[in-house]
Amino acid sequence: MATATETPIDAEKIRRDFPILETIIHGDKRLVYLDNAATTQRPQAVIQAVVDAYEKHYANVHRGIHWLSEQSTNLYEEARVRVQQFLGASSPHEIIFTTGATASINLVARSWGDVNVKAGDEILLTEMEHHSNIVPWQQLAERTGATIKWIPITETMQLDLASLEHLLSSRTKLVAITAVSNVLGTINPVAEIVKRAHAYGAIVLVDAAQSAPHEATDVQQWNADFVAFSGHKMMGPSGVGILYGRESLLEAMPPFMGGGSMIRRVTLEGFEPADLPDKFEAGTPPIVPALGLRAAIDYLEQVGLSRVAAHERVLTRYAHQRMSQLDSVTLIGSDPEIKSGIVTFVMNDVHAHDVASRLDSVGVAIRAGHHCAMPLHKKLGLVATNRASFYLYNTLEEVDALVAGLAQIHEWRA
Ligand code: PLP
Repeated sequence: MATATETPIDAEKIRRDFPILETIIHGDKRLVYLDNAATTQRPQAVIQAVVDAYEKHYANVHRGIHWLSEQSTNLYEEARVRVQQFLGASSPHEIIFTTGATASINLVARSWGDVNVKAGDEILLTEMEHHSNIVPWQQLAERTGATIKWIPITETMQLDLASLEHLLSSRTKLVAITAVSNVLGTINPVAEIVKRAHAYGAIVLVDAAQSAPHEATDVQQWNADFVAFSGHKMMGPSGVGILYGRESLLEAMPPFMGGGSMIRRVTLEGFEPADLPDKFEAGTPPIVPALGLRAAIDYLEQVGLSRVAAHERVLTRYAHQRMSQLDSVTLIGSDPEIKSGIVTFVMNDVHAHDVASRLDSVGVAIRAGHHCAMPLHKKLGLVATNRASFYLYNTLEEVDALVAGLAQIHEWRA
């Protein structure tokens, strides 16, 4: 079916690097993994980096005055520099290792938010945010008496930028937006929103959980103040995430968590925080996951992020084209010409969980539910949707398998 179309990446070749993609499930079904927006799979190079770390380099960082600890510390700090280069950040001090995008956003909400947001201030979010970029701000608003406002979405599933005219004001202290919607696939005009927010003196946090794995990130071009993302959505290990922060802002912020490593000195009377980035890395950090993330970045850049994005675009267009021919499927989200590799849909009269479970029985793994975006689902008048999401190792034949599975569900329902 898919032979007439070509993809920019030879995914069959790439797949050989991913042992898990060889898995046979339910007796004889080749696993078709289309749940990449939830989490991705790892190539052998990342798995090996993790194994190497435990076999050859592992000790706690920044603590021991011994050879192994120095090795481990050097590798950990090299990983930080690798992330700095990946983002185009000015200094490794701007890169904080966290446990994930959620932890990064919470760090900013607590540390920056508690000091800078007061009753009467406004926080501007969008209707397409993941709960991770909603709840920390709702908690901040509860603590401070600030108000949350929402940038609405249009009928074409884009942010309504015209609304910024009346939503932004000198009361706006923070704008927190996703770079790519994890449901709609919409790619937001981050640099433009940052520019307009900065004109009012607001700080901007970008949730890059769904963009950093799929397209090149340049924090200078965005000019964002904070950027958050997770390692596990870009072939890295789980348990590691990144907070990029503008150095002047991070310098002025108090530490979020207290403990070992984040201090210069502790006395019975109090403590003096360490310099950046240690100030924000209390306790033993995600040492091995950080080394795995470095290997994932190396792998991604070797393939080339522009090719990854182009590959996913071909898969997404193809999926839209084939799925729109199925009567019982309604596609939800942005125009496939301008969206990222996320295809969300509902099937008439079949619950999203039944769709996912039937697809699973033929080997196809997709997500069902609200995808941690309940306000967006409410706005769309839906309780649950299905989501297929692609990555560099997916093939057109896998899209065919998804479509064949959906056609079978249609037959079963009829
Ligand atoms: N933001 C977006 C847009 C996401 O899609 C996700 C995960 O699904 C997150 C934030 C949270 O990421 P994590 O669970 O890795 O912290």
